[in-house]
Amino acid sequence: MDILERIDFLKDEINRANYKYYVEDNPSISDFEYDKLFAELKELEGQNPLLITPDSPTQRVGSISEKFFPYKHKYRLYSLDNTYNYEDLEDWYDKIVKEYNEQELVCELKIDGLAIALTYENGVFVRGVTRGDGITGEDITNNLKTIKAIPLKLFKPVSVEVRGEIYMPKTSFEKLNEENLKNGEKLFANPRNAAAGSLRQLDSSITAKRDLSMFCYTAIFTGQIENPPKTHYESIMYLKDLGFKINPNIRLCKNAKEAIQYCKDWDEKRFDLNYATDGVVIKVNNFAVQQEMGFTSRAPKWATAFKFPPEEVTTTLLDIETGVGKTGAITPVAILEPVQLGGSTVARASLHNFDEIKRLDVRIGDKVFIKKAAEIIPKVIKIIEDEEHYNRPVYCAPQKCPSCGADLHFHEEEVNLYCDNPDCPAKICAKIEYWASKEAMDIDNVGPSIIEQLYSKGFIKNAVDLYKLTMQDFMQLDLVKEKSAFNMYNAIQESKTRPLAKLLTAFSIRNVGKETAGVIANEFGTLENIINASVEELSNIEGVGGIIAQDIFDFFRRPENINMIEELKALGVEPAPPVQNTYDDFKGLTFVLTGTLQNMTRDEASEKIKKMGGKTSSSVSKNTSYIIAGENAGSKLDKGLKLGVIILTEDDFLNMIKGKDL
Ligand SMILES: [Zn+2]
Repeated sequence: MDILERIDFLKDEINRANYKYYVEDNPSISDFEYDKLFAELKELEGQNPLLITPDSPTQRVGSISEKFFPYKHKYRLYSLDNTYNYEDLEDWYDKIVKEYNEQELVCELKIDGLAIALTYENGVFVRGVTRGDGITGEDITNNLKTIKAIPLKLFKPVSVEVRGEIYMPKTSFEKLNEENLKNGEKLFANPRNAAAGSLRQLDSSITAKRDLSMFCYTAIFTGQIENPPKTHYESIMYLKDLGFKINPNIRLCKNAKEAIQYCKDWDEKRFDLNYATDGVVIKVNNFAVQQEMGFTSRAPKWATAFKFPPEEVTTTLLDIETGVGKTGAITPVAILEPVQLGGSTVARASLHNFDEIKRLDVRIGDKVFIKKAAEIIPKVIKIIEDEEHYNRPVYCAPQKCPSCGADLHFHEEEVNLYCDNPDCPAKICAKIEYWASKEAMDIDNVGPSIIEQLYSKGFIKNAVDLYKLTMQDFMQLDLVKEKSAFNMYNAIQESKTRPLAKLLTAFSIRNVGKETAGVIANEFGTLENIINASVEELSNIEGVGGIIAQDIFDFFRRPENINMIEELKALGVEPAPPVQNTYDDFKGLTFVLTGTLQNMTRDEASEKIKKMGGKTSSSVSKNTSYIIAGENAGSKLDKGLKLGVIILTEDDFLNMIKGKDL
């Protein structure tokens, strides 16, 4: 192979790897292999500088500009008309149906990032310009070249101008701010500002270090192409075929009803995405109709943006309630004047702990900002420091347990206040609730309110008592009829044979969550073996340190715990032994699962790995053999790539276990 051929080969390989990783989110080679190819290309180009082309992946790294030059857009970038309500949307649609006899719409998430225009000539990226005022922007080609989701060379040699949105994933934004905080640098207010700040660096090597990506949403074909797309949807699919990253949530809708449903769905689901979206762009699909409808002075008539209600709202803090957790930790909860946030009415929000209250200086009666992020429970993020705030009394943490009245204490090196009374009713109920929860014994139908009733009516004093309950006991609870009494009774009986790991989790041993419980159950096989294990034997297990080992050892030395276990046994609680491996294929291999899998849950995948003789771990290290990366895989994948761990897709994994009886 001559040098030119080799260079072309390397460029193609690297471009394809970039495409798989950054556009399809589906890595094809390890970081190590990638680096090797890249180093070879760089060396060959160094020896033959005349062979360097602008589409070479080596051209993605740093250069320094003195300033950005203004550039007049060849095709104007219009704004979009906004609407915040569905009636406006329906009116707009009715007009289209009536005047143009057109029905089909396309819905796309409106990404909260920076709009840019990319120019490709004969398939090669030549220029990238910011939106600016829509008529003139700034040429930031060198910075855009560092973004690997932007192809330098397309799969077909077409000439096209593409618009899209540059964004920073939420997880990368958080990581960047964490680093900036550590280095005493300024923090970015939101992912959008972080993306803008990263993009407008005169030194593009800084841009290269920031994790930026891009979704493309408009194509203007400037040269001849075969079978040009006739609709917006087709044009987006065409962009995808050319190698551009498009947002996978684009949807073709038959009518306004479907489009409105799309808006409603995403108003709720948007918090689960790893990028910020502030609305939905709705376009008439048919290009011919678009052309007929035309533009106003600032916006196309054939498109509109439905804006989501804000993720942050203000309301009044009416009170601070306190709850007691299973460890006795006292948790403050904000009681709010009910307010609409992210599609639901919010009347309670988290305040984490009393340190947080002090830090925010929240006082009862204050106006507060609440925010709904990926988590389900909204939280109070800041207060409005108006004059009244300073006239209100400073909030004082309670000194007595809200449930039993015992004095509260701080535990060493912890921010939480604790109720240390072993007989505290709230604490006991929380413990039993945890016992019955999905994470532990997974007792369906027996939730917190049932447990509180059972406790207050004197039917149960601890989790063991659940197994002594009869159907008649349940029938004496408020609003419980025969059928639901039967279901509850049945669910408790079924839980008797949950796997050993679940029972171990249910014990609520300090520092032993479901992961650790799983590892220990696997290693020792039976409860007897765990009870008899020495601190040394326990701490020899990977992932179990000395402190955890001591906690476990101590738990099984307390007479009340041994009595509880004897009692459970007598009541017929007999945990199923851990899954045994039926094959040896994965012997000595450690897998890490990340992201969402399509064909199974992560628990199911773990079980299959165990049956194949392998192990799973929750964290990536140099001992990790494989990472199985599902959709929206995050930091574990990044770490794995850095360490050169082999990345498997779900399909790869399915191929590895093909034909096995798992
Ligand atoms: Zn208490």
